This record gives sequence, structure tokens and C-alpha cells, in this order.
Amino acid sequence: MTDLDAEQKDMARTLAVRLWNSRWLLAAGVAAVLIAFAFAGISPYVLVPALLLLLAAAMLPTAGALQSVEGAASIEAIGLQRLSGEYLAAAVADPLIIFDHAATIVHANAAAFAAFGGIAPGISLSLKFRAPEMQALLDGVLSGNVASDVVDYTEKLPVERAYRVSASSVGHGTDLYVLVFKDQSEARRIDRMRADFIANASHELRTPLASISGFIETLRGPARNDPAAREQFLQIMQNQTGRMARLIDDLLSLSRLEMKPYLKPGTEVDLRQTVDSVIDSLAPLARENNVVIERDFADGPLDVPGDRDELFQVFENLLENACKYGQSGGRVIVSIALGDDGSELGVDVTIRDFGPGIPEEHIPRITERFYRIDVETSRTQKGTGLGLSIVKHILTRHNARLTIRSEVGKGAAFSVHLPAH
Ligand code: ADP
Repeated sequence: MTDLDAEQKDMARTLAVRLWNSRWLLAAGVAAVLIAFAFAGISPYVLVPALLLLLAAAMLPTAGALQSVEGAASIEAIGLQRLSGEYLAAAVADPLIIFDHAATIVHANAAAFAAFGGIAPGISLSLKFRAPEMQALLDGVLSGNVASDVVDYTEKLPVERAYRVSASSVGHGTDLYVLVFKDQSEARRIDRMRADFIANASHELRTPLASISGFIETLRGPARNDPAAREQFLQIMQNQTGRMARLIDDLLSLSRLEMKPYLKPGTEVDLRQTVDSVIDSLAPLARENNVVIERDFADGPLDVPGDRDELFQVFENLLENACKYGQSGGRVIVSIALGDDGSELGVDVTIRDFGPGIPEEHIPRITERFYRIDVETSRTQKGTGLGLSIVKHILTRHNARLTIRSEVGKGAAFSVHLPAH
């Protein structure tokens, strides 16, 4: 259809609507003209132009239609003025309390009722929020010295929550004021986690650094002329620098993963080939620890969407742990099976060892950064405490799931379920 056709159709539709809207007026006009024709005896030369004039008038845009645009704007303004404070307060997701010049609650939204016990219209805010910072905030806006102000306030019960509270007067001369509470607890928790992480990372780096610096002192002093001691100390120093390098590598891995939260779409990973090369690359470690690695792979293609290097890192970490911590079991079984856990098709990769296993209470925390069941064992096994948190990070990016099952004394099984799509 051409633009011209479309325009003509639009015009015809508009005219039809106008005719329909003016149908009663038109009918009355036609009736009046016909009556005049019949009774007053006007000539047909007057009748036909009169009927045509009526039709044209009916087709003209009505005054109402011309006014409708201006009308919409003024209705909007009136609507906004009529909008009740209650509706506005209810539309705000944060706790909000409206109060008067005596600091008495006039209205509170549902979020405020849910967050604070013991509030209701008529109750004094000064009695409810006795903390000095809240009193100062209320005094400030009620005295009229400031139009609005903000303070940080912590509500202790039922659970501790940190808020940034703003108070301001509402409009001009309404004698009403509003308090809005922004929950900062999550942001604070993340800040604390970051600070803990930096403290842990620094501590992990400082320990080998202190050891190296101690040995340098010894080599310069008492062991200066002792070749046997020098050789031994240099070996320890080399081990410690290796430990620092591993820790820095793992920290960089984690920060790189955090920098790119989304996975590049469209790449497929052949799990059979990937897991095979992980097993090959860890063969020397397995041999060193007297561990035999057994394969139990399903037939057919075992491909999933994902990033090959990242999944390699996942299975490398899990298999390395199985060889190190499950060493006493003497064998590790790596299995790949088509996984159908009811709702979702995918592939399950399980790494099972027959070592000491993991006591139940540690399992929920084992993927936390720097969490180790036994720090000394982890250190002697060249662990950094970051391996499983890297695994968890990568699996989250793959929409995958890690399941850890263990029976103390019988070993541990780490299962990764990777969705097929
Ligand atoms: P690490 O660098 O210490 O190995 P990980 O994050 O990889 O750090 O593992 C955290 C801790 O979980 C280890 O220190 C160890 O205590 C425990 N762990 C991991 N895998 C196993 C396993 N297969 N058997 C027993 N304990 C394990």
C-alpha cells in the first residue's frame, strides 16, 4: 500500500467517525429541513444546499475534539493534585513515614510497617526513634532551620539493619514532613566482605614474606659460613616465593572472573576432550601421590555451551584436590554422564575420591574464599584456599551447579551439572 492510499484511508476513517459521532445532530437537522420543506413550502433549490451544508457541518471536527489535547494536560495536572499522599507513599518501595509539626506519625506505608514494629498513626516519632542522630534529624527539619537532612541510623531489632534516613518538609505550608529510610545493609555487607578479603589476602601474602625475610637475615648472620644450611634455607625461600606466586595467580583469576560477569555466548565445549586433557595434565601429580585416576565416560557426544579454558580450570581444581586431599584412598574416579535431573537436560561430571572425606559442617562453607578445613594440610599441599571459590564463580557464570557429597572416612564426590542449553 502506498503512503497516499494509507492517508486517504485514514481520512475516510476520520470522516466516518465524525459522521457517526454527529449522527443525532445530523438526523435532527435533516428532519428540521424536511419539515420546513413540507410545511413552510421552501423551494427544492434551498432544500438541497441546506442538506449539503448540514452534512459538511457534521463532518467538521467538533469543538470537543479540538479541545481534547489541551484538556488532557489539564486533567493530568488536576489528577496529580488530587493524587492522595497515601497512594504516593504506597508506591514508594522504601519505608516512608509522614509526620506533623509535633513529630506525630500521620501516615506510614506498608514497607515502614514491615520494617519497624510499634508504629501507627498518632504515635510520636521521637519516642519510637530515640537514637540521638534521629532526634537531631527530626529537630533539624521541625525547627525549619533546614528543609531536608540525611543521617545514618541502625535499627537493632528484630535484625540489625543499617539505614540512610532522609527527612524533608512536604510542599509549602502543609505542616507535614516525610521520613524515607534507604536500606544500606547489603552495601555494608559487601564492603565488609571486601575488607575481610583484603585482610585475608594480605595475611596470606605476609606469612611467606615474613619467612623469606627471616631466612635472609639468618643467611647474612649465623648461617653465613654454613653451606648445608644455606642450601636448605634457599630451598625454603624458593617454596615460599612459589606460594606467593600461586596466591597472586589465584587472586588475579578471581578478579578477572569478576570483571567479566557474562559468558561469551555461542561457544560449545567438548567435555570428553576437556576432561581428558585435565587428567593428562595432572598425571604427574597423581603419580607423585600414588593415586590412580579412572575414567568412566558415557558414549556419544558430551558437548555443552561454555568457555573451554574456564571449565578446564574447574575440573583441574577439583581433580587436583581429589589427588591431594583424597590421596590416602589411592584412586579417583572421573565420570561423565548425561544428566537429567527432572527439569533440565545437561551433562554431569563427577570427581570422586576415597580419602578422609569432608565433615558435614564444613560442606556449606567450603567454597568460601580462604576457607580451609585444615590450614596446615592445605599449605603443605600447596593450596591457597581459593580453588573452590574460583570453581564456584565459573560455574555460576555457566548456570551450572556444584553438589558436594561426602561420608567421613569414605571419601568425597564433587559433581558439576552443566545445562545443555
Ligand atoms: P585449597 O587451595 O586449600 O586446596 P580449595 O578452595 O581448593 O583450597 O579447597 C578448600 C578446602 O577444602 C581445602 O583446603 C580442603 O580442606 C578441602 N577439600 C577440598 N577438596 C577436598 C577433598 N576432595 N577431600 C577433602 N577435603 C577437600
